[in-house]
Amino acid sequence: MAAIGIMGALQEEIDHYIPELAGLEKTELVGFAFFSGKLAGKDAVVVKSGAGKVNASICAQVLITNFRVSSIVFTGVAGALNPELGLNDIVISKDSMQHDIDATDLGFERGRVPFSELKFFNASKELAECASAAARKLGLKAIEGRILTGDQFIASRERSALLRKEFRGDCVDMESAAVAHVCALNNVPHLIIRSISDRADHSAPVDFTALFRAASENSFRLVKELVSNCRVQETGGKGGLGKRGKSGKGGKAAVAALIKSKIRTVPDWPKKGIMFRDITTLLKDKGGFTRLVNLLVERYEHMGIDLVAGIESRGFITGAVLANRLGLGFALIRKAGKLPAETVYEEYSLEYGRDRIEMHKDAIEKGQKVLLVDDLIATGGTALAACKLIQKLGGEVIEASFIINLPSLKGKERLEAAGFRAFSIVDFEGE
Ligand code: AMP
Repeated sequence: MAAIGIMGALQEEIDHYIPELAGLEKTELVGFAFFSGKLAGKDAVVVKSGAGKVNASICAQVLITNFRVSSIVFTGVAGALNPELGLNDIVISKDSMQHDIDATDLGFERGRVPFSELKFFNASKELAECASAAARKLGLKAIEGRILTGDQFIASRERSALLRKEFRGDCVDMESAAVAHVCALNNVPHLIIRSISDRADHSAPVDFTALFRAASENSFRLVKELVSNCRVQETGGKGGLGKRGKSGKGGKAAVAALIKSKIRTVPDWPKKGIMFRDITTLLKDKGGFTRLVNLLVERYEHMGIDLVAGIESRGFITGAVLANRLGLGFALIRKAGKLPAETVYEEYSLEYGRDRIEMHKDAIEKGQKVLLVDDLIATGGTALAACKLIQKLGGEVIEASFIINLPSLKGKERLEAAGFRAFSIVDFEGE
């Protein structure tokens, strides 16, 4: 069974682990010392990465390539940006990003890895939930939040205020998002656990060494509890050593990151100002397409669905493949005038005027449980009309499912407000 990788930047951050590792073995690679053994009865590899993004990235990659870990937990201390965080409080990562990436002169917003969609790296939800439960059990104050990373030690009030304002970060460090970036590229789930050792604006007068020690110890207790109680080794990993879900290597967050990385953005298409999210690049990639369909199969195979309905035209592609994989039939939702037999329709508003979608009158049998599929939800107008059309034909909409959600346009909220369930795999900020 694959081991869990545990990383810390500094010696004090990993010191607690070494004496706890049963059957300790030391391996030196690329200048790092990797300590393998059983932590709380589970296989683990513990390593000190050294400070900064380059050290952390190389170290994470060696853990994945040479030790084939199932997941990586990065643990240690951080400076608080969120004013509600006190010393020794813990931040469990929801996501992380690199605040020092700046290719604004090339037209990319700050924090985005240029020429890619990579900006925020989602942590494994399963691991984060386990860590939160572990914190509650240990009586530690922990929040799930955003970690900002850069090759800069943040020690001024101005810088921390700016970082908080621009990226809504909860704490700042020099390694986490680099590890998360490596994990995303390798489809390995990860989690960051940071205990607050200082205020990044240095407003709190502190004995840094004492706090650093106490904060490291807090992180260690939490990670040990996480390892002992959670099925961290069964989330799967590089090389398939762990028990894997059908969605492939890594947890759901990693698969979503991979899917997102395969989607192309075409600016100003079909008209100026629209960022067109183009899934053709995902579809032509056999790994990406397979993982997408596997992820959907995993979600829907036990939901009691009778029929999949797809919206023209990209909803036909994933919808039809998914229906086939689930052993179900597929129904077409088309633009006006395309279907040959008797139809029913539903109208919906566009920016200017109205549009209409249609289904064959006999496409759905009364009482059938229908899954609605499209590639993307923007304002939700099309999907809402499709849900109503399904109902008109006597079907029950079990869920509306999308690859992409544009959260700023609030389409999912609109569907949910109308009483429909909505699911999407990746978010793209901006329209
Ligand atoms: P809406 O009715 O506003 O939710 O729009 C959803 C429909 O428009 C979907 O069928 C999408 O394929 C398409 N669409 C809207 N905005 C975009 C976009 N930015 N990129 C790609 N497709 C889009």
